[in-house]
Amino acid sequence: MLEVKKLSKIYKSKTGTDVKALDDVSVSFPESGMVFLLGKSGSGKSTLLNICGGLDSPTTGEIIVKGRSSKNFSQSDFDSYRNTFIGFIFQEYNILNEFSVEDNIALALELQNKPKNKATIEKLLSDVDLAGFAKRKPNTLSGGQKQRIAIARALVKNPEIIMADEPSGALDSATGKQVFETLKKLSKDKLVIVVSHDRDFAQLYGDRIIELSDGKIISDVSKTKEKQVPITKNIDSMGNVLCIKQGTSLDEEDFSALKSFLKNTDSDVIIASGEKEVDTFKKANRITENGEREVFAKTTLQEKKSYRPEDSKFIRSRLPLRHAIKIGFSGLKSKPVRLFFTILLCTAAFMLFGLLSTMSFYNNEKTFKQTMKDSDDSVIRLEKNYLVETKWYNYEELYSSYTFENQTFFTPDEVEEYKNRYGKDVFSGADNYLNYNVVSAKYPYWSNIIKTFAYMDSDNSLYQTINGSYPKNDNEICISSYTAETILNCKIYDSNGQLLELNSPEDIISKSINISGSNYTITGIFESGALPEKYDILKTDEGKEDYRLQNLFESELSDGLQLIAFTTKSEIERINAYYGTKNDMRTYQKRLSYSPNFDGEFTLPEYANAFYISFDELAAGTDIRFLNQNKTSLSENEAILSENAFYEFIVRYFEQMREKAYNEYEKQEASEYDEILEKCYHLMSGGVWSYNEEKNEETFTPFTAKEKEEKIAYIISKIDPDVDLNIASRLYNDSNGSLLGEQKEIKVVGFYVEPYSQNQETTLVLSDKTNTEFWNEHKSNLEYYEEYSTKYSHPANGVYNVIFLPFDHSEEQVNNFWEIYDNEEYEADDSRVKLSGMFIDRLEMVDSMVKSMSSVFLYVGLVLAVFAALLFSNFISVSISQKKKDIGILLAVGAKSTDVFKIFFSESAFIATICIIISTILSTVVCNFLNMEFAIDIGASLFVFGAPSFVVLVLIAVLTAIIATFLPVYSAAKKKPIESIRSI
Ligand code: ADP
Ligand code: MG
Repeated sequence: MLEVKKLSKIYKSKTGTDVKALDDVSVSFPESGMVFLLGKSGSGKSTLLNICGGLDSPTTGEIIVKGRSSKNFSQSDFDSYRNTFIGFIFQEYNILNEFSVEDNIALALELQNKPKNKATIEKLLSDVDLAGFAKRKPNTLSGGQKQRIAIARALVKNPEIIMADEPSGALDSATGKQVFETLKKLSKDKLVIVVSHDRDFAQLYGDRIIELSDGKIISDVSKTKEKQVPITKNIDSMGNVLCIKQGTSLDEEDFSALKSFLKNTDSDVIIASGEKEVDTFKKANRITENGEREVFAKTTLQEKKSYRPEDSKFIRSRLPLRHAIKIGFSGLKSKPVRLFFTILLCTAAFMLFGLLSTMSFYNNEKTFKQTMKDSDDSVIRLEKNYLVETKWYNYEELYSSYTFENQTFFTPDEVEEYKNRYGKDVFSGADNYLNYNVVSAKYPYWSNIIKTFAYMDSDNSLYQTINGSYPKNDNEICISSYTAETILNCKIYDSNGQLLELNSPEDIISKSINISGSNYTITGIFESGALPEKYDILKTDEGKEDYRLQNLFESELSDGLQLIAFTTKSEIERINAYYGTKNDMRTYQKRLSYSPNFDGEFTLPEYANAFYISFDELAAGTDIRFLNQNKTSLSENEAILSENAFYEFIVRYFEQMREKAYNEYEKQEASEYDEILEKCYHLMSGGVWSYNEEKNEETFTPFTAKEKEEKIAYIISKIDPDVDLNIASRLYNDSNGSLLGEQKEIKVVGFYVEPYSQNQETTLVLSDKTNTEFWNEHKSNLEYYEEYSTKYSHPANGVYNVIFLPFDHSEEQVNNFWEIYDNEEYEADDSRVKLSGMFIDRLEMVDSMVKSMSSVFLYVGLVLAVFAALLFSNFISVSISQKKKDIGILLAVGAKSTDVFKIFFSESAFIATICIIISTILSTVVCNFLNMEFAIDIGASLFVFGAPSFVVLVLIAVLTAIIATFLPVYSAAKKKPIESIRSI
């Protein structure tokens, strides 16, 4: 049945010396009986046994099992061969310590596709005298008991061959004997191959003894029976033993036979009688009752039973999932810290991919169109921007550059074009955010802002809704019905400071009010439309806390008609010029440090930063006040100060003058300076606080630009005309405080007021020539400086920074607006027209957030996934090395290599499942958070962690788990079973 041919096994060692464990060994094993492999330690017995059992593979040669040659065996054939034919018994028992006695046996049963049957297990246990031990754990058993469990396990599949490698090696001799007795019994109808180095046991139990030395068979003997041969009438011989029957009297012939026997012997001869001695002698020499003697003689070639491969079938085992999971899970508990970090990292990585997919499922077009359709705006705002490139230099070397957009103005011609394209309802305006004072703007619903001064033609539909008339003169306006409502609710003083008695909107018409310092007569009220009811709560105390709703409301107002006032074209131009809106269009700035000093007499030790710009860069229409009334332009080395720079220099000038006066006891002069400085400080405070007794509230009213100018003019008039206001400008090294380059004396000759108090900068306006000179001189000393450049030049007749298009919510319009929104192309002059408004800003913010977060999530996710996979893989590798022995045992018991995969895949499936659950929960939470933060202002849920995202997350998780598990398991499963068993 089993035959090996020309087996050689060479162990390649790392040190270079190869070990030839088997050297051209050929043996043919019998169908049954007990065959001993005998030899000294290291002679190759185990190697031969393992190769015969398919636990190891030979370097050359083949094993032939039931007519099949191992030459054609695949790994799974070896697995099935072991499973089908062989029961292994090892010196170290090799039973699974995590399994109970019962489960160890049940596992072997189930690998045979046989059900776990209590009665069968009990029977097997009682066969090896271990009835009642079913529930015990192996670590509570003695060595002999463990070995008998191993035998019971080997018997489960009723194998045709039993292989035992020094089965009694770890046992005392009595227990060892029991094991051999058991094996001897089994050898009646099975082939039992036993490895042993104990010759006595071999001779006692063996039917055949194959002796090995240095990997070669040095003898192969089989037990045969020698019959007694009579040499005389009374004396029988068995080789060198003579036997004389009891009660025989010897004759001459007998004596001469005895004589020649004694003569031929060269050792001592014992002649003994007595029942006991003879019995002992017979047993020791294996002489049977009928006088036969068992001896070992050279094994003769027996007739081999021939097998055809088709006659026997390999049984493929199947490790039940239950056991795979059990073994797999036992690995989780043993390394909790590793498990925790693996789960943590994997969860993070999977979550990022989940969110990433959510973001990739976010469709900005769909969101845009849907929100547009749902909105109740009747107009859409357009603005025109141009591209400015900023270059950062480090000691004149370009070190980074980026571009940003600045807003510009539409010309009346462009407005006409839009009117031709989008119909008569198009109108245009300029955003300046002016405000009017109301007596009480207690609730967030009421906003006393005029955001846009606009102009429309009389054919506009909105024109038809005007209650009253459209303004004809520059100091007239037509306000929105919302503004009228605000005025009615919050009460207002007219431009003469008279509290207006108003009962209905009509009462407001023809009244004059003050808006940011200018008086306007209200000629009419146009219908700005009803606001959604959900905002009504903002008219109450309750609404004061609802910042989210206020935020939404702000955008509703800002994008709608509510904060518009209509007036004449010329008034819009005047306002633009007055408020210097075009200041925003400054194209480049340079930042240097300056130290102010006055008249050479006062030197301030302080240094401050200032922007230097050339006169040309100052926005057209900026209202400049020269100290000398006759001046209109800047000469070389002269400067105009911004409001902020004015504070820096002039206030300090007066402070020094006052100090000088006090020091010289010029009391009169000193108190004059006190008075002036008081005015300076008042001006610097930016506005007036007033107390309203009725409401017990302090309100702050900022100065208007006009008021500021008047105050500054007054203060300047107090400067001694003989004093030259000089600024000593030098470059200042921020990091060590040293001064660089030449000092430059610059004379202050005027000032201007910036329109928005919030973006004030300390700016010195120099003549073009001075600025260039100054700049060229200092440039090489500057560590960093930036330059702005653009292809765009502002149109001379640009008036409107916003065009309003009518919006009827039709599909066509929505698609059209989407195209404008989606267009990121610039015209040849680097300008582009885009949709604007707070709602659009929010959409854009979400779009860019999605874009940037997607790429961040992608890259961070990928990096994390790599680390997660490595950690995961490492976790499985550690599990594998911890379970190597169990794997080997399973393989020896009959499990397939693929069952090894099952074990570790169940382990990694568990980890992956936990990660999937946690990351799904976290992704949902993060999505909700993102929706709350960003989407609610848009009125739609942007990120939905739905089924598709879940599928992506699961796919990523499964992929990671499979890759991370497959590689280490693959290399483990490829190993020979014996390598796994040997490793501890
Ligand atoms: P025995 O079972 O007769 O004691 P083995 O078959 O275990 O002998 O070993 C035969 C020879 O092969 C010995 O010299 C042993 O050192 C060597 N050997 C066995 N297994 C390995 C192995 N995995 N790697 C290297 N050498 C081995
Ligand atoms: Mg051995």
